[in-house]
Parts: sequence; C-alpha cells; structure tokens
Amino acid sequence: MADEAKSFSQQLQGFWVTFATMFKKVNTVQYPEVKEPTAERFHGRHQLNRYDDGLEKCIGCELCAWACPADAIYVEGADNTEEERFSPGERFGQVYQINYLRCVFCGLCIEACPTRALTMTNEYELADNQRSKLIFEKEDLLAPLRQGMIAPPHPMYPDSSHLNYYKGEITGSHPSQASQAPQGEQLSQEQS
Ligand code: SF4
Ligand code: SF4
Repeated sequence: MADEAKSFSQQLQGFWVTFATMFKKVNTVQYPEVKEPTAERFHGRHQLNRYDDGLEKCIGCELCAWACPADAIYVEGADNTEEERFSPGERFGQVYQINYLRCVFCGLCIEACPTRALTMTNEYELADNQRSKLIFEKEDLLAPLRQGMIAPPHPMYPDSSHLNYYKGEITGSHPSQASQAPQGEQLSQEQS
C-alpha cells in the first residue's frame, strides 16, 4: 500500500512538471533569419591566427594533429627561407587541413598549440551538401588580414627575432616590409 502511494505521488510530480511547462514562455528562434549569439566560449570553426604584421603564427609542429582524438587534422610543415617567409622562426605550416566530417569540436587541438596559432571561432554554420567541402584547407582557416598586416610571404620586422613575435612585441608591419612582399597586400584604413 505504501509503495502504491509513493508511486502515485511520483506520477503526480511528473504531471505537475508537464502542466507547469505548458505555461512557460516558448523560446522559438526563427533560424536562419534570426541568429542568436552563441556562448562566448562556444567551440565553432577553427581559425589560424596571424601576428600583427600578417605573418602566420603556425609553425607546422603538428602538435594539434597529435592531440586530436578524431584524427581530423593534417599538417605538413616546411622551412621558411629569407626569400619566402610565412612565419617568424624556422618553420611554417605549408599544408593545413581540418576534416569537419570527423571533428567533434572538443578543443583539444587548440590546447595543444604552443603558439596560439589555432583557436576556435563562434561560427557554427558548417553544413554543406558535399562531403569534400567539409575538409577545410589552410586558406579557409587563415584569419583575415587586418589593418597594418601584409599577406605573407614577407620578411620579419627589421631587427627583430622570432622571440620578439612570441613576446607580443611586434604590433604592426614596418613600412619597408610592404616593398619586400611581392605578393603582399597592405590593407588601407578604409578596408580594415
Ligand atoms: S576540436 Fe577536437 S576533434 Fe576537432 S580538430 Fe580539434 S582536437 Fe580534433
Ligand atoms: S596550429 Fe599550432 S599546434 Fe598545430 S601545427 Fe600549427 S603551431 Fe603546431
């Protein structure tokens, strides 16, 4: 008898939850016309970051690929040369791919990155109708050029070393760098 009373009481509690929910404000978002902001630390699409003069932060070390539990990252590093420099220091990421058919957005790769080259944005619209389009290449992942940045390849800031970059002491490109960057482009004030 006591068991039956307890069971009935539990059922009443359940019905009460259902009943009370009927009067709560419905939160329907008219997506895709309306897009609600994500949580600040939402794990969305990755981004390969740049230093403030436009050089890339990725050094092609592959630590992100080794940290990935889903084997979603493929990296091939290469040597910088004085004629063709993409990042401060010796190496840069020549090939960089993330396979979003595999990625589970856990963020372990960004924790592993020693230079903060890899971070995650809040962008979540990654659906597509072709599987091949969900393998993002380096060009898809690189951060856009902001004011004061020059597209690599170009030399490091004059009289600086890779350590100055790592310490955050390079805050923009030097005017002389623009002329040394044959394929480079410098964003104007209006574009940035
Ligand atoms: S977020 Fe996780 S699953 Fe996705 S690429 Fe990074 S480590 Fe791999
Ligand atoms: S993103 Fe970071 S961890 Fe991955 S290869 Fe580049 S520097 Fe290394």
